[in-house]
Amino acid sequence: MNRITKENGRLVVPDKVTIPFIEGDGVGAEITPICQRIVNEAIGRAYGGQRAIEWKEVLAGEKAFKQTGSWLPDETMDAFRQYMIGIKGPLTTPIGGGIRSLNVALRQTLDLYVCLRPVRWFRGVETPVKAPEKVDMYIFRENTEDIYAGIEWQQGTPEASKFLRFLTEEMGVTKVRFPESSSFGVKPVSVEGTERLVRAAIEFAITNHLPSVTLVHKGNIMKFTEGGFKLWGYALAEREFADKTFTWPQYEKIKKERGEDAAAAALLEAEAAGRVVIKDVIADAFLQNTLLIPEEYSVVATLNLNGDYVSDQLAAMVGGIGIAPGANINYDSGYAIFEATHGTAPNIAGKNIVNPCSLLLSSVMMLEYMGWNEAGRLITAALEHAFTEGRATHDLARFMPNGHSLGTREFGEYVMSIL
Ligand code: NAD
Repeated sequence: MNRITKENGRLVVPDKVTIPFIEGDGVGAEITPICQRIVNEAIGRAYGGQRAIEWKEVLAGEKAFKQTGSWLPDETMDAFRQYMIGIKGPLTTPIGGGIRSLNVALRQTLDLYVCLRPVRWFRGVETPVKAPEKVDMYIFRENTEDIYAGIEWQQGTPEASKFLRFLTEEMGVTKVRFPESSSFGVKPVSVEGTERLVRAAIEFAITNHLPSVTLVHKGNIMKFTEGGFKLWGYALAEREFADKTFTWPQYEKIKKERGEDAAAAALLEAEAAGRVVIKDVIADAFLQNTLLIPEEYSVVATLNLNGDYVSDQLAAMVGGIGIAPGANINYDSGYAIFEATHGTAPNIAGKNIVNPCSLLLSSVMMLEYMGWNEAGRLITAALEHAFTEGRATHDLARFMPNGHSLGTREFGEYVMSIL
């Protein structure tokens, strides 16, 4: 069996490797086959037949429900466990029936604690900002905790009343403004959850020679959860990466003891030595800064809800939902699912106009994760070429001065022709 394993902390990828994939609902049937053809072609060109992916379809979403009566069959989870890495198109969120979201179920089952969203601009793509080339970031969004954990009780239910009684009678809480009509949600943020996310972000920055990791949080208001995230993140950097990082608290300490000039000199020295600067910023200031001074940020580590907002805003700044890739990763076990970040786009499904680039760039992330960088680079270069020529699907081409709208299939053929 051609499966990826993890040995001594490293992924071992056979030259002929099986990758399970979920085609995806709605536009999934259009983007998945095209992406696979482009990836196969790129691998062929990069390694001349030495390496290849054998795609293995597994079911989830509407297609799974129609064929098996289950939205997420056990065989699908088993395949992701067995083969370690997989890729998926968008999935319809089932309404009712016990599953809140298939994506959340996949992430939770495999404990994929990092949602990684790289955000960069491609020359030729028109965007709403003046200098999109300054945006070059990697968002590490915590994927398993925070208000997203789904621990909540609806207003008016016995559970909400019980929780309210616990708050008021046992915890002495008096601050619920309208107690009788409140719904409640719980926001767990742990030391372990923070540390594994921040560790992954710092290791990524070190491996890829990136200048900084910024902890984005709202710790000024939510002191123990988001504030904890900041404190634990800094503590981890200083404890586990002492000789590879330089933190803002260290800067502040030098400033206090030896003055601002000494602190600035220490920072310059650390940067020259290739150390990763670990800093933090309050989430609202960060969103403002992404528009004003995006070049100051490289790797960003943040909590679940902040990460959701931040990734979509940044994606919009460089061209939007159609070209934003993503992955859900557990850097300890190695499990990873790469995915289109957009939904099933039912309004355009079947019309041959969907942009396949989100899934395609997620495939590039997958190739990089596997260490097959050469194949990934061929695809990225082909996309760069296509966009500068104004060749793109309609969602992008309509804004390009030299734009030439291509159908999904035609765009795929064009990309393949210039690999
Ligand atoms: P959506 O992302 O499907 O669509 C939003 C808008 O963006 C639509 O106008 C759509 O046509 C357009 N769009 C999206 N992707 C595009 C692409 N690649 N190229 C061109 N245009 C594109 O969001 P929605 O309409 O809110 O959700 C539809 C369904 O998808 C829902 O069932 C939702 O739960 C699900 N969903 C799934 C995922 C996922 O699986 N990762 C993510 C978001 C939404």
